[in-house]
Amino acid sequence: MVNGQSAINSISIGNYETLSQDKLSEGKLIVVTGPSGVGKGTLLHRLLERYPDRILFSISATTRSPRTGEEHGREYFFWDRSEFEQKRDSGEFLEWAEYAGNLYGTPRQAIDQAIALGQIVLLEIELEGARQVAQSFPSAQRIFIAPPSMEVLESRLRDRSTDSNEQIIKRLHHAKLEVAAANEFDITIINDDLEIALQQLESAMFD
Ligand code: 5GP
Repeated sequence: MVNGQSAINSISIGNYETLSQDKLSEGKLIVVTGPSGVGKGTLLHRLLERYPDRILFSISATTRSPRTGEEHGREYFFWDRSEFEQKRDSGEFLEWAEYAGNLYGTPRQAIDQAIALGQIVLLEIELEGARQVAQSFPSAQRIFIAPPSMEVLESRLRDRSTDSNEQIIKRLHHAKLEVAAANEFDITIINDDLEIALQQLESAMFD
């Protein structure tokens, strides 16, 4: 999820924006994974501001409730569990996973369309989903964003005050599993200094 996504190019089911094709020859799928609170959203938002005509950001579906300021169809499609499960069972997701008690998934249709049009599509998803994409879409580039330490991650999660203590504990538990799996990814970027992490992300994606 990237806040303020309305200001940038985005895709959604049956509704995607096309990019100037002279700039893009080949479609590409990039998976960005990293623990909740690591700063993926900020990094990707900055990247999308820098390359508004080159990158498309997939809008996921989730059963979690919207946070203050989040809008259906912008940060996420907020579907209830039965709607999500019905779409999942009819094969509408490229990947899906349960995370901290909620379901999250990437609607498949918009991804296929965008890549066929030669666009660079970014998925910001957790570990289980990234593993599924590695199986179903082996050419996807997989990038892991790691925190400088678990202590820094915990204070970032607590400082942003978007989640309950129970949610923070679940997210920290998941974070340990994710950090332990960083070696499954093509590249790991440590988000200590935002500008440095951004440069590393850019070179990983475009070089
Ligand atoms: P949040 O609730 O903080 O927005 O997201 C929680 C976690 O779910 C984050 O690690 C985020 O990357 C992940 N996530 C968001 N969308 C998807 C998705 O479509 N699929 C999967 N597998 N994870 C997702």
